[in-house]
Amino acid sequence: MAQIIDGKLISAQIKDELKEEVKKISENGGHICLAVVQVGDDPASSVYVNNKKKACAYIGIESRAYELPETTTEAELVSLVEELNADSEVNGILVQLPLPPHINEDLVIRTISPDKDVDGFHPGSVGRLWIGEKGFLSCTPAGIIQLLKRSGIEIEGKECVVIGRSNIVGKPMAALLLRENGTVTVAHSRTKNLKEVARRADILIVAIGKRQFINAEYVKDGAVVIDVGMHRDENNKLCGDVDFTDVADKVSAITPVPGGVGPMTIAMLMNNCVETARR
Ligand code: NAP
Repeated sequence: MAQIIDGKLISAQIKDELKEEVKKISENGGHICLAVVQVGDDPASSVYVNNKKKACAYIGIESRAYELPETTTEAELVSLVEELNADSEVNGILVQLPLPPHINEDLVIRTISPDKDVDGFHPGSVGRLWIGEKGFLSCTPAGIIQLLKRSGIEIEGKECVVIGRSNIVGKPMAALLLRENGTVTVAHSRTKNLKEVARRADILIVAIGKRQFINAEYVKDGAVVIDVGMHRDENNKLCGDVDFTDVADKVSAITPVPGGVGPMTIAMLMNNCVETARR
């Protein structure tokens, strides 16, 4: 019977640990403030932003909401980010993505000060990660490392295969697994013989963005499978990039969707906010 890696439980533990730490920081006169910027009122973005505000409130981090209309220009958004960079009371800046098409996301991400880049998307944060310097880590991959470690799954020396090479999941995931001394392969849409490559994995991380794409044929007996995907099935129920039912009997451990990787992303965002005070 496969171990079901409980992301809800682990994220709750991390949030409780952070709450204790923030209490101590406050007792010593410290204060942490996260600026959350949303442009437009995309319903999914609003749900994510609200969840981030709730997590801040729980942990004891002040969240300042900047809700801007869809018509906000790129120059206006850049100017707000520059103001927040200069505001000594703001520790972290989060600009909720995606932005409306008339705004260049890369430009906005690059405008955020690397010292306040709690999403870990700034090229400076990405560079630090690859050369092994301390910096803000991209939240979803950092959460996956915590899921593995806190479930007693060793990474060192293991064959790790990451399917997907996006800037927010696949690439930082590969860098973090390498930092943990895994032997890392990154697969993508041009990879030949994906099934063979995936079957090499002791730890298989799937971030393809295709509903229930990975079935038992892609998985070695006893592998650990981490499913980053997030979709709705034909019955409108949440599901991942992995066909959980097909794979579950074959693996030693697996993350469910929902309740696996998803809850970890916000927990690690909160960790990055607390990191601003640790520095
Ligand atoms: P993305 O930017 O669309 O990247 C998908 C990656 O998968 C690309 O690198 C692509 O390769 C690769 N790919 C696509 N089809 C493939 C195939 N048939 N075989 C092998 N590789 C293939 O997606 P993402 O932003 O990384 O997100 C991936 C999934 O994770 C999505 O379902 C997303 O909703 C979910 N997600 C969840 C969280 C969370 O907190 N739980 C956070 C972020 C994302 P190419 O580069 O060659 O095109």
